[in-house]
Amino acid sequence: MKLDVNVLRYLSKDDFRVLTAVEMGMRNHEIVPAELIGRIASLKHGGTYKVLKNLLKHKLVHHDSSKYDGFRLTYLGYDFLAIKTLVNRGVFSSVGRQLGVGKESDIFEVAKEDGTVLAMKLHRLGRTSFRAVKSKRDYLKHRSSFNWLYLSRLAALKEFAFMKALEEHGFPVPNAVDCNRHCVIMSLVDGYPLVQVKKLPNPDIIFETIIGLVVRLAEHGLIHCDFNEFNIMIDDNEKVTLIDFPQMVSVSHRNAEMYFDRDVGCIFKFFHKRFGLSFQENADDSNDSDVEPDEVCWPRFTDIKKATDSLDVDLAASGFTRHDQVAMERFIEGNQEDLSDNEETDEEEPDEGEPDLPDEANIKRIESLNLLEEDVDNPVDKDGPSDGSQFEQ
Ligand code: ADP
Ligand code: MG
Repeated sequence: MKLDVNVLRYLSKDDFRVLTAVEMGMRNHEIVPAELIGRIASLKHGGTYKVLKNLLKHKLVHHDSSKYDGFRLTYLGYDFLAIKTLVNRGVFSSVGRQLGVGKESDIFEVAKEDGTVLAMKLHRLGRTSFRAVKSKRDYLKHRSSFNWLYLSRLAALKEFAFMKALEEHGFPVPNAVDCNRHCVIMSLVDGYPLVQVKKLPNPDIIFETIIGLVVRLAEHGLIHCDFNEFNIMIDDNEKVTLIDFPQMVSVSHRNAEMYFDRDVGCIFKFFHKRFGLSFQENADDSNDSDVEPDEVCWPRFTDIKKATDSLDVDLAASGFTRHDQVAMERFIEGNQEDLSDNEETDEEEPDEGEPDLPDEANIKRIESLNLLEEDVDNPVDKDGPSDGSQFEQ
């Protein structure tokens, strides 16, 4: 996705105020009525519609008049709000080239004033599976406020919290720098995803290091759940770095053993295919008597011993709540089931329904919290977990 940050420079305070008003309106409207945007933004000299036209020209909002005259944020609009906030905070000052396109994210280089280069991950949950999620997930059926903003923000919050906790426990992960909305800023890994590596001087050592990481994660109470050659980076000195954490689950998850075996299996298969390492094909087959001396044993989930410094405690204190975790797990599980029969690749509009919060209440809340006064800091984060609670059953 093209991210022309030059547009940022041409946007006025009013432009951002109206863009933020659209974001706030999306708390309870998939398409925010133009009239409501005007009321939320309450520009001193009026003219919200003219500003909206400018935002539309730059593709920061999408116009929808099928049911009524309304607007919603585009990914780009949401990107700009996060970028502007992080730039205001001094986290970075410019956006550079795109580093990667993940399944549900876009990754860019960003640079600080002093030239330090960092990585920016913009989460795009729902990009590949909006229709499936919309049509099949019971828990979303009656949630008019369900949208990709919420899920992408949750994914970023979770990724940031997990990265930080993993780093603090000595795991080789990028340094978690900051997080806003759906955007995570982390240190740049100077390496390549393992999938791009055709030759390794010591594949068996790297293999053992990587399997050791899956085991150590489990000892600390966690399973990565997407542990494969795309999410393991390796540098020229063969240093391994793990990335991509939004889908991690606890070892107490009901499907923990299956996820653990799947993670281990991905690594075994990859090293067998790419580097010719031999091992037991199936976890169930690997009993001690028939393992060849040069074969590596498949670690068993049931043999994992829990470490004393479990990560659960840190994560509970991170702001990523139990409720958030449940919402994410439901989405991820639904996503994995649904992806197989979902060919849709474009972002799709979820159903419009009855708003959860009356507009007047929302406007009052915005006014009382002064949400529009401080430029565009993170308005949806300011009133804490209640923002997410509207998604509870
Ligand atoms: P997704 O969740 O969409 O799979 P990832 O976090 O796996 O996203 O990132 C996608 C790609 O972006 C990675 O395979 C890698 O090439 C690149 N990437 C991600 N994080 C970093 C980083 N911190 N430094 C360098 N490259 C990165
Ligand atoms: Mg990935």
